[in-house]
Amino acid sequence: MTPCVLKFGGSSVATPQRIKDVARLIKDKAETCQPVVVVSAMGKTTDELLRLAKSVSPSPPPRELDMLLTVGERISMALLSMALHDLGLKAVSFTGSQVGIITENKFNRARVLEIKLYRILDALRDRKIPVVAGFQGVSLSKEITTLGRGGSDLTAIALAISLGKVPCEIYTDVPGVFALDPHDFPSARRYDRLDYGVLSEMASSGAKVMHARAVNLAAKYNLPFLILSSYEPEMGGTLVERREHLESPGVKAITTAKVLMLDVEGKEGVPLLIRMIGEVRVLNFSHDTTGKHLVFFVPEEEGDRALKLLSELGLRFSMRGELSLVCVIGWGVGTSPEIGDTLFATVGWEHIFMMSSSDMKICIVVERERERAIVERLAKRFNLLDEKRSFKGPDS
Ligand code: ADP
Ligand code: ASP
Ligand code: MG
Repeated sequence: MTPCVLKFGGSSVATPQRIKDVARLIKDKAETCQPVVVVSAMGKTTDELLRLAKSVSPSPPPRELDMLLTVGERISMALLSMALHDLGLKAVSFTGSQVGIITENKFNRARVLEIKLYRILDALRDRKIPVVAGFQGVSLSKEITTLGRGGSDLTAIALAISLGKVPCEIYTDVPGVFALDPHDFPSARRYDRLDYGVLSEMASSGAKVMHARAVNLAAKYNLPFLILSSYEPEMGGTLVERREHLESPGVKAITTAKVLMLDVEGKEGVPLLIRMIGEVRVLNFSHDTTGKHLVFFVPEEEGDRALKLLSELGLRFSMRGELSLVCVIGWGVGTSPEIGDTLFATVGWEHIFMMSSSDMKICIVVERERERAIVERLAKRFNLLDEKRSFKGPDS
C-alpha cells in the first residue's frame, strides 16, 4: 500500500473525544493507504504556552521559547498514538528531531532544509503508523527549533514530498477553502479545486486556513493536496493543485487581517527593510518618495516582535492600531483596470489608508470598524457569496 500523509490541526484534536474521533478516521483511511500522521498541539495549547512564557519573562529567549512550544505537539502525538492503540492499531509517536526534520539554525521560524525520514521508513516497514509532531525540527547545530505559527502544515507537505510525492490530506475544522472565511461569512463560495498561487496569496495575506510557506513548498514540487474537515470528511474538500491555465481572470477570494501600521522615520531604508522582513512577518510595506519614511504593516500578533526590533535599532517611529488589511485576490486582479475601478468605487477612496497591488492581488488598509461592511460589499460585488449555501461550524 502507498503511504499517505494525514495532517490534523489543533482544532481537530482539541479535546480527548476529538482525539478518539480522529483515531477512528485514521483507522478508516488505513484501509486504503498507509497513514503517516502529522499532528498539531491540542486546541489553543500553543497560545497558552506562549502566554505562560510571557508571564515568566516579557521577552523570552528564542531558544527556550522553542523548547517550550514544541511540548504542545508532544502531548497530542502521544495521546493520538494511545487512541490508535486502543483501536487495535500499531502506532508510534515521534518528535520532529526523531524523524530527522532538519532545519536551519534559527529559532521560532526555522526553514526546513531536509527530512531524513529516519524512523518513519522503519515504522512503515513494521506496519506501524508513525504519528509525527508537527511544527518542529532540529537544527544543524542540534537545537530544537519551531517552524513558525501554523507550521504543522509545512511538516505535512515536506513529509509528503520526501516520501516521494505521496497523497497528502490536511484535516481542519472547515470543509475546504472558501472565497472568504466561512466562520465570518457562512454563505461564502467553496472551491472544489484551487490553484496553489491563489491559496498562497490568501495565506500570506492573512487567511489562516493553510500556512503560506507550506503552499509554496507544495507548488515548488507540484504536490497536490486536499484540505477537508475532520468533523465531516464525507463533505469532501478543496483540491489544491496547479491550475493557472484553467483559471479565468477574476476575483477568487477576499482576506482580512488585523494589522498594525508602523511608520519609521529616517534613512535606514533597505537595511531596515531586510532586517524587518527577516525577523517579523511583514504583510506589506511602502515608502514615501523622499525616502524618509518606511511604513510597515505587520499582523497584530507580530507587534511585540516588531516594536522590539525597532527599539533595539534606536529608530523613531509611530504606530497605529485598529486597522485591517483587506486583500482582493485572483489571477490578473492587480492588472485589471475594471477590477481596480470596481474596488475603489465600492469602498470609496476616502476610506483607504494605503493601497498596494501585484499581479494577483490588490490590498487596502482601512479602519477596523469599517472592515465588515467593506468586505460584505466587495463580496457581493465580486459574486463570492452563494446565498443557497450556509456553512455551519462543527459546534452548531
Ligand atoms: P488548524 O487548527 O486545522 O490548523 P486553522 O485555524 O489554522 O486550523 O485554519 C482553519 C481556519 O482558517 C478556519 O477555522 C477558518 O476560520 C480560517 N479561514 C480563514 N479564511 C479561510 C478561507 N478563505 N477558507 C477556509 N478557512 C478559512
Ligand atoms: N501548534 C502550532 C501553532 O499553534 C503549529 C500548528 O498549529 O500548526 O502555531
Ligand atoms: Mg493551521
